[in-house]
Amino acid sequence: MHVIDLRSDTVTHPTPEMREAMAHAVVGDDVYGEDPTVNRLEEMAATRLGKEAALFVVSGTMGNLASLLAHCGRGDEVIMGDRSHTFLHEQGGLAALGSIMPFVVPNQHDGTLLLGDIENAIRGADIHEPRTRLVSLENTQNACNGSPLTPAYVASVADLAHRYGLRVHVDGARIFNAAVALGTDVKALVAGVDSVTFCLSKGLAAPVGSMICGSGSFIGLARRARKVLGGGMRQAGILAAAGIVALETMVDRLADDHTRASNLARGLAALPGVSVGPVYTNIFYFSLDAACPLDGAAFADALRERGILLPNRGPRSFRVVTHCWIDDEDVERTLAAAVDVLGLA
Ligand SMILES: *Cc1c(COP(=O)(O)O)cnc(C)c1O
Repeated sequence: MHVIDLRSDTVTHPTPEMREAMAHAVVGDDVYGEDPTVNRLEEMAATRLGKEAALFVVSGTMGNLASLLAHCGRGDEVIMGDRSHTFLHEQGGLAALGSIMPFVVPNQHDGTLLLGDIENAIRGADIHEPRTRLVSLENTQNACNGSPLTPAYVASVADLAHRYGLRVHVDGARIFNAAVALGTDVKALVAGVDSVTFCLSKGLAAPVGSMICGSGSFIGLARRARKVLGGGMRQAGILAAAGIVALETMVDRLADDHTRASNLARGLAALPGVSVGPVYTNIFYFSLDAACPLDGAAFADALRERGILLPNRGPRSFRVVTHCWIDDEDVERTLAAAVDVLGLA
């Protein structure tokens, strides 16, 4: 019985085609800029996102931090959502390593920040205040039901920020999920922004790596930041080779992950005692009602015994993430297991 792992899209292993490409990658010293495979991946990513240049980094966390270090100086402030990954799940690296302040404003249920909240957060010229430098958005917004931000919304934030002389960064760890869900070219999602990061190692199934994209001069600064963070890798083409295959073969199929997330959510929502949140992409949340005889930990344990990994995230709440390892049969098996565990059979 194979394990159905719904914890995250990071659990995916490289595809056979990726392993093949990795084995045969032409490499060089990337700190010298001499790895042809890394250079090719960076060119591909820049073209794909409609930006001048790109940089291969170890992780999404490093991509966001290197971007913030490139945009901001000591004591500068970044406006970001209170449910954003950068605020919640990156150890406060911007403050710990960059002396950069987060100014958090509430994420709405759809993942957006209200334009009025952003505008109110922008500091003036008063000598008592830090300088606002940047607005950081997240697309898809992981903790807000994996919701995609639309091109029109991102453009409206970029217009507002640029009017005040601020820059805009997008944490696009799952930006291709957003593009596929909205049926739009990924370029349209980042057209007006100054920098964007995206992950190769989540739904795109590469083993390691994220990309930063932006102007040539910005990427030059990010490259310096990456080096001081210890992210200057040498024959990194071995890893970049998988990233190229990820971009070439793994983007369009994300639609299947979204369909399966919908199907799984619909099946769970039909069970008494289960409340399911909205599904926009490959992430959704559900919870067990107070009347349900099992708490979250007991439900998760019972699923694990049936070969399904879905740890509870709160006393009764769960996050589900679909990815290329989850097929239609796995959706059916998960639903059948939930029926069984909840004693509904
Ligand atoms: C996963 C994730 C990151 C960080 O990526 P790592 O590669 O795990 O460091 C950043 N932002 C969002 C929205 C993510 O989901």
